[in-house]
Amino acid sequence: MQTDWDWKWMPDGVAKYHAYLRSPEWQALRYAVLQRSGGWCERCRGRRAVDVHHRTYARKYRERLRDLVHLCRDCHEIQHGLGGRWWGIYIWVVVLLILLVISLL
Ligand SMILES: [Zn+2]
Ligand SMILES: [Zn+2]
Repeated sequence: MQTDWDWKWMPDGVAKYHAYLRSPEWQALRYAVLQRSGGWCERCRGRRAVDVHHRTYARKYRERLRDLVHLCRDCHEIQHGLGGRWWGIYIWVVVLLILLVISLL
């Protein structure tokens, strides 16, 4: 049966990806990742995992189990680089410092 939100029939893009995240295929994969991790972060092992992170999107929509990793919030932000929420603050500090230097010239 084909429903209107079946991700397989949608054009590539954000809508398709979001539909995929609601699909039984993704739920099964996600469940397998949760089983593997036992609910603990697979990077630091010390905190409860909350997010399933893609190591790679090379096999998007047909991921292997090893393409995914169960992470806690902190490790997930690190995986996405730039320190997550701290990046915005860092930018502001740099801008303020530049403005300070300019005003002193
Ligand atoms: Zn962690
Ligand atoms: Zn991620």
